[in-house]
Formats: sequence, C-alpha cells, structure tokens
Amino acid sequence: MSPELRAELTVRLIRGCELVGPCLIWTRATQSGYGTLKYQQIMYSTHRLAHELFIGPLGKNHALHSCDRKTCCNPMHIYAGTHEDNMRDLAIRGLASKGEKNPSSILTEQQVLEIRASNSSINELAEKYGVVRTTIACIRNRITWRHI
Ligand SMILES: [Zn+2]
Repeated sequence: MSPELRAELTVRLIRGCELVGPCLIWTRATQSGYGTLKYQQIMYSTHRLAHELFIGPLGKNHALHSCDRKTCCNPMHIYAGTHEDNMRDLAIRGLASKGEKNPSSILTEQQVLEIRASNSSINELAEKYGVVRTTIACIRNRITWRHI
C-alpha cells in the first residue's frame, strides 16, 4: 500500500467513525454486519483496514474484535487471529454475554423495548439514548437484541 493510499484511507476511515463509549463505530455502509469502505473501486472491510493501518498487516489472519462490535474500528479492540481463535473466543464470551450482560452494551433491555415501541424518528431516538443511528436501526430491524 502506497503512503498516499494509506493517508487517504486513514482519513476516510476516521471520518466515517463515531465514538460510542470506548468504541470507534463505523457509521456508513456495512455488509454482513461489518463496515465497508469503497475507494477507487476497491472494497475494504473497515475493521481489517483499521488493523492494517494502525497495527500492521493481517496476512491470512482474521481481524477479531475484543468488544464484539463488528463495526468497531478502534485499533485497541482489534486483534489478529485465526478462524479457530475466533471460534474459541466467541465460545468463551459465549451466550452468557447476550444483551445487557455484555459489558460493551450501553443500552438496557428496558430501553431496547422502549425503542421498539416508540414512534419517534431514528434521529430522535439516537439523540435520546446517546447512540448512533445505526444502533437504533439495528434494534428496530432486529439485527441486534434479537433475543428480546
Ligand atoms: Zn470496540
């Protein structure tokens, strides 16, 4: 990757992120839950890109999240690992970390139910609960918090 490309991608990545608690959440396009950034006809996966830009090359490794947020681009929350590492870590964090038991979750089950029941706009709800619009949209479309 040329220095010019690195610089351009760094700016685009940072511009597309919003700080949500300790996480740097990608607020633009996503695919299968992961952030995507398209530049010069090339599609980058934002968490992989964050690792490549701020930590180092991934090679064949996966970029794994310690915070369980697929759109998070905080380099402190991303580490390189194999598919097996990912499966093991997911199993460890496991089903016990569903919903509000998960420390990275900033909404409570009660708030999620309120959001689903509310007629307010996504913008109003994001403002009210201090989360990004994507979070509200994901709750409404049952992409997240599916268990309640
Ligand atoms: Zn994070």
